[in-house]
Amino acid sequence: MNGQGILKGMLVTAKNFFGSYVSRERLTTVSYPEGGNTIKEQSRNIPFLVFDGEDPVAGMRCTACQKCEKACPPQCIFIEKDKDERGKALQRPKVFDIDASVCMGCQICVEVCPFESIWMDSNFELSTFNRFEGLQFNREKLLKSNTYFHKIHPQQAQASDDRLAEKERKRLEREAARRAEKSASEPQV
Ligand code: SF4
Ligand code: SF4
Repeated sequence: MNGQGILKGMLVTAKNFFGSYVSRERLTTVSYPEGGNTIKEQSRNIPFLVFDGEDPVAGMRCTACQKCEKACPPQCIFIEKDKDERGKALQRPKVFDIDASVCMGCQICVEVCPFESIWMDSNFELSTFNRFEGLQFNREKLLKSNTYFHKIHPQQAQASDDRLAEKERKRLEREAARRAEKSASEPQV
C-alpha cells in the first residue's frame, strides 16, 4: 500500500515521543551542558597519550618509536626523541605534538602503535578562538592517565591492560629461562 512506509515511520516517532515521558531509554536528547557528557564509548576525535601511575613523564608508555608519526596520513604528528646529558637518544619523546586542526580522527596512529600508548580521546569540547595556538596539542596536553582512559573507554582500556600484563608475564618468563640456562652452563664447584 502506498504511504505504508511513512505511516510506519510516524508510528515509531510517536512511540518514542510519548514513550520518552515514561522511559529514559527513549529520551535521546539531553540539555547541554546541564545534562552532562553523553558521549558513547565508541566515540573518538583526536588522539591522546596514556601514562601509568601518578607521574605523566615517568609513566609515559610512548617510546618515541615514531611509527605513528610515519603512518599518519595528513602528517600532523611531530615527535622529537629525548636525550640524556651525553646526547644519547632516550626511549621517550621530548616533543610530541599533534596539530588537532589537521587530525582527521582516522585512528591509524592507534593501530600502528606497538606500545599501547596512543588512543583516541572523546573530548569534544575543543572550541578555540585561535586555531593556530588552541589546536596545537603538545606532550603535556596529550598525556592523560590510564584512569582517564578507563573512564572514557573502559573495555578498550581493560583489553590494553590485559595485553600489557601478558607481555610483561612473557618477558619475566624469558628472563627466568635465561637465568636458569646461564646458571646451568656455569661450572659446578
Ligand atoms: S587520528 Fe589519523 S590523522 Fe589524527 S593523528 Fe592519528 S593518524 Fe594522524
Ligand atoms: S605513540 Fe606509539 S607509535 Fe607513536 S611514537 Fe609513541 S610508542 Fe611509537
